[in-house]
Amino acid sequence: MSTIASVPMLDLKRQFSAIGDEMNAALRAVNESGMFILGPEVKKLEENIARYSHAKYAVGCASGSDALLLALMAARVGAGDEVIVPSFTFFATASCVPRVGATPIFADIDPVTFNLDPQKVAEKLTEKTRAIIVVHLFGQACDMEAFQALARDYETKYGRKLYVIEDSCQAIGAEFKGVQVGAWGDASCLSFYPTKNLGGAGDGGMVVTNNEEMAQRVTLLRGHGMSPRYYHKEIGVNSRLDSYQAAVLNVKLNYLEQWTQAREANAARYERLFTEAGLKDQIVTPQKVGERRHVWNQYVIRVKNGKRDALRAHFAEKKIGSDIYYPLGLHQQECFAYLGYKPNDLPETLLAANEVLALPIFPELTAEEQAYLVETAREFLK
Ligand SMILES: *Cc1c(COP(=O)(O)O)cnc(C)c1O
Repeated sequence: MSTIASVPMLDLKRQFSAIGDEMNAALRAVNESGMFILGPEVKKLEENIARYSHAKYAVGCASGSDALLLALMAARVGAGDEVIVPSFTFFATASCVPRVGATPIFADIDPVTFNLDPQKVAEKLTEKTRAIIVVHLFGQACDMEAFQALARDYETKYGRKLYVIEDSCQAIGAEFKGVQVGAWGDASCLSFYPTKNLGGAGDGGMVVTNNEEMAQRVTLLRGHGMSPRYYHKEIGVNSRLDSYQAAVLNVKLNYLEQWTQAREANAARYERLFTEAGLKDQIVTPQKVGERRHVWNQYVIRVKNGKRDALRAHFAEKKIGSDIYYPLGLHQQECFAYLGYKPNDLPETLLAANEVLALPIFPELTAEEQAYLVETAREFLK
């Protein structure tokens, strides 16, 4: 008999009870310093994240959404340009595109990884394509070699650069062929939203790059295009990272590897539990595919036979948290109706949106809680 009464989707209080003293001390030091915007803590975080990502530069900004916007602005993507993006992702991957005056072109996903399918992207390249935004969704890296090859072929064929921008907001620490996300594309965008694997005490983001010009342009554009003070070279935005966030993130970064390993162990345990429960005919568990490191920001199953919503309601009755990332492809969103997509234009996206269910995977989740969740699923589906 299980003694578990509920399982949260995410419980940051458990993390705080482990490292709260360190976080409070870091915040106190910021208060005493009187420096609240950018400053030494942000510089230290930029250096730490660049080192962690094996990239040359990292530039802090106000959110992951702004990191994507700044990367496009820095690449001078604008009116008349097309940017290929997945439809099965968080809204910010695509909303940055019309913000710079360009047109988002939605491409379908690979059903196993949920990531953009390079073949589907290839079919959408035109003489107007200026960038591809690949998303390492749920924490699993994309096939970056395939996207690099697309960009190289494009440059040969059309004689101009095709930017590859990585949306790594869910994937800090993920790897493809032993190389971290962020080191592959022209720019990689991170989010420090509290539910991400490295989350702050509020909003925050960063652009990671090996390209010096990209780093300089993002630095200029995040501060109103101002250089020197009160002289504006370009129209930028106000998107600075504050010292509070950087101070908390500098503390948490020391634990990130340990937390990622706990997420990996939780994913392996779910795989064993769902197999032992005999549920693999009704539930498709997420798989890490060859030569990648999956950092499991989300553990997303597919529930077959149209039972996803019923299972989710049953979980809710038993006080087990779950969530749907994402219930609707971006190509079906009201705000993108002007682009004229029909639901079935992207059949894998449509199917995923109807089947996916994200389960708790946070590092402090216990083996007992996982067993209770899988047993609850078994009772319901059998
Ligand atoms: C969280 C997230 C973002 C946006 O990050 P914010 O910091 O919330 O602005 C962008 N893309 C993906 C895939 C995300 O998961």
